[in-house]
Amino acid sequence: MGHAGRPYYVPVGNEEQVFRAAYRQNLAILLKGPTGCGKTRFVQAMAHDLNRPLVTVACHDDLTTADLVGRFLLRGGETEWVDGPLTRAVREGAICYLDEVVEARQDTTVVLHPLGDHRRQLPIDRLGLTLDAAPGFCLVVSYNPGYQSVLKDLKDSTRQRMVAIELGFPPPDVEEKVVAAEAGVAPDTASQLVVLGQAIRRLETPGLREVASTRVLIAAGQLIAEGLTPRAAARAAVAGPLTDDLSLTAGLAQLIDVYLGEDLAPAKA
Ligand code: ADP
Repeated sequence: MGHAGRPYYVPVGNEEQVFRAAYRQNLAILLKGPTGCGKTRFVQAMAHDLNRPLVTVACHDDLTTADLVGRFLLRGGETEWVDGPLTRAVREGAICYLDEVVEARQDTTVVLHPLGDHRRQLPIDRLGLTLDAAPGFCLVVSYNPGYQSVLKDLKDSTRQRMVAIELGFPPPDVEEKVVAAEAGVAPDTASQLVVLGQAIRRLETPGLREVASTRVLIAAGQLIAEGLTPRAAARAAVAGPLTDDLSLTAGLAQLIDVYLGEDLAPAKA
């Protein structure tokens, strides 16, 4: 990743302080919050501040322990062990971020237990060895507390060794700054998009609240920066991804018309 500057992250509460404290005390971190609220960006910023390499694994429902730990591969007639990302992080003393760990298979708890608790060890059955995590290693797992979770299967003793940091959507003033900076739109435009996002999050309709994330507001801003009207941008970037339901789409279009006036000037980058 080179020596680029700090990834742009605006703190919402005391999350940076909690992260640093947990890191120094070798505690694993549970990052809770809806998708698109800034979890990944936050971990990137912290890895930069703590001067540690960051290994990120986007978890999915086929992700197995072998995907995390490693496997023997056939190379030119020879079998060769290849470390998985978790093993690499353990050896390097990296921050290992398991994004959306809820998606991973249940059997991954076998490795999360000894790594997440005081042992800080990674058992590699196929090699018949157990690795001690190098200094600096930190396990960070993110999940959406609303969902079924492999974390529910973690022993209490392991969960209690982890520190929870809850990240919600940023408050309006922070989210405005973020949308303006990330999309390159004027503060007024960012502010109107945030007001729209807030309105959608207030709806009682199941499923909608979380999807009007900071990420989709930024995407709408990016379309505006390309010259689309705010209404067209919001229909494409906010309403479209949110739902396929026709009446819901119509309702969102109305909401967009209410909150985004056509007289709003297109933004300058
Ligand atoms: P998550 O990992 O929770 O799904 P991301 O970290 O990918 O979400 O955040 C989505 C986008 O929202 C990021 O690309 C970033 O531009 C923006 N973002 C959200 N919250 C913040 C914040 N507090 N500071 C800076 N950018 C943020």
